Amino acid sequence: MSPGGQPAAPATGSAADFLPPRPTLPRLRAAAAHCRGCPLWLHATQTVFGEGPGAADVMFVGEQPGDQEDRAGQPFVGPAGRLLDAGLEEAGIDRRRVYVTNAVKHFKFVRREPTQRRLHKKPTPAEVRACLPWLEQEIALVKPRIIVALGATAAQALLGNAFRVTQRRGQVVESSWGSVVATVHPSSVLRAPADARAKARREFFRDLARVATRLTPTSARAPSTN
Ligand code: SF4
Repeated sequence: MSPGGQPAAPATGSAADFLPPRPTLPRLRAAAAHCRGCPLWLHATQTVFGEGPGAADVMFVGEQPGDQEDRAGQPFVGPAGRLLDAGLEEAGIDRRRVYVTNAVKHFKFVRREPTQRRLHKKPTPAEVRACLPWLEQEIALVKPRIIVALGATAAQALLGNAFRVTQRRGQVVESSWGSVVATVHPSSVLRAPADARAKARREFFRDLARVATRLTPTSARAPSTN
């Protein structure tokens, strides 16, 4: 059953079945709200589409919305988003010039007993493939100068399953999507053991600083000195 209690329509297998004609970002967002390309829409609150200016220089791609993003309907508004914001600030990247989105647009989770807290669950390769048409369209319209893949799911969606963030983080990879830099997902920094968290944060911020060096002066400000 769907969240509204109606019999659930079967997933079609690809978001491509829901793409609007003559896509624009607002049309894509409206169409994605009704996507049934994979089963993830069934239990999530809503589609969380990308946000940001239509001509952003840099696009950040995460894995999927988290619990808070699912409720708010906006990407990167939870704890991981706040860490990303802090990293952008330190790197001197103007958040208002950045487009943020996810490889998968619905929140996938399992409920932990007895609290019923919703815990993130990694999307399957089939779910990532099914959702990829939305990201393809976002990239085609926004035309970012550089795409930053946050974490393995986003990196492998863009650069293939053999890509390893651990081996190539922070490096610019030229691909059919354009220039892509992969780094860790900020939620992995937050989940790092307490004695390793400061180092993980420094390394994440260092990768963002490398991205800043590739941007135009309109989207990268002079880094703060404090
Ligand atoms: S996760 Fe993507 S493909 Fe699956 S239903 Fe949601 S928007 Fe469609």
